[in-house]
Amino acid sequence: MLDLLIKNGRNVAGEPLEIGITDGKISHVSAKIEEEAEKVLRLTDDAIISAGWIDSHVHCYEKMTLYYDFPDEIGVKKGVTTVIDAGSTGEANIKDFYELAKKAATNVYALLNISKWGIIKQDELSDLGNINLETDKERIQELSDFIIGIKARMSRTVVGNNDVIPLKMAKELQKELADLPLMVHIGSAPPELSDILALLEAGDIVTHCYNGKLNGIMSEEGKIKDFVWDAYKRGIIFDIGHGTDSFNFSVAQEALDEGVICRTISTDIYHRNRENGPVFDFSTTLEKMLSLGLSLKTVIDMVTKNPAEIFHLTEKGQLAVGKDGDITVFHVTDKEKMLIDSNGNQTSVNQTVEPLYAIVAGNVYPISKE
Ligand SMILES: [Zn+2]
Repeated sequence: MLDLLIKNGRNVAGEPLEIGITDGKISHVSAKIEEEAEKVLRLTDDAIISAGWIDSHVHCYEKMTLYYDFPDEIGVKKGVTTVIDAGSTGEANIKDFYELAKKAATNVYALLNISKWGIIKQDELSDLGNINLETDKERIQELSDFIIGIKARMSRTVVGNNDVIPLKMAKELQKELADLPLMVHIGSAPPELSDILALLEAGDIVTHCYNGKLNGIMSEEGKIKDFVWDAYKRGIIFDIGHGTDSFNFSVAQEALDEGVICRTISTDIYHRNRENGPVFDFSTTLEKMLSLGLSLKTVIDMVTKNPAEIFHLTEKGQLAVGKDGDITVFHVTDKEKMLIDSNGNQTSVNQTVEPLYAIVAGNVYPISKE
């Protein structure tokens, strides 16, 4: 007897797909499943089933004052089954975050900010006294099921006069921890983007990759900078991290046209850019990437398989027997919509992505329309 049987769905290629979930894990994946189930979820004809969506850059520790949100507001209520908080907290407050996060329906993981209180204020890395690699290491080992990487924010307002020193310290910490994933935020100089990328290695993640700032990946002539190409070819991972200030349609289009392709799509969402835009929710960010010419399959891989691989979430990101029973059901509908980037540029699309259900370990959360 299955706990949950999802009937009448399709995969991203449009082929019939049904899924069975038992004890929180995917137990059946097939075009047609004829099994008894405790609960049957019968989908409408246009419903698409994918592995549960993973947003790999969010801020959801509700006790912060600057960047905060609630995991379920940006998670299951938006079709997202897993969120990765990108450095809201550091070694001094991440335990409290962990205790709160356990209560959410959404799966929550965190990247540890190398500054001890996380983003308690905008310039968390301007005082090197806030970085203690020994306690960072202790905390990462203690909360190894929750902390799945390290975060260092490398832009002028964050690092003050410290240039790339905090990044060198983050790399040192990473080396002691079996190459735990390191996510680096980029923005205005100093530090110069070229100096940041020079310190990164294959597997390191650059978030806010398609920002429209001068210190970004595109030159004033509108081409991808040579040193950015070098970094890309060395295997550095590019992540969207849309955010309030960090996604620009022209930069994204040029990068995609030239072949500097992001591996993950993420929002950098928190309550303010959720309520007022330009982020709003995960599916709106997916619509933006579709509008730039990526296929639905590519976009879905960028929010399932790719982040699961990069952050070593080995039980997630795939519709395969034995994997976690995390599923997103959505549809792509013909509807006019205006999309806006972080610099106020607009583009209109005639297809929207609408999540219908978030399913976490076999528990079904229908998405209510606002
Ligand atoms: Zn962020």
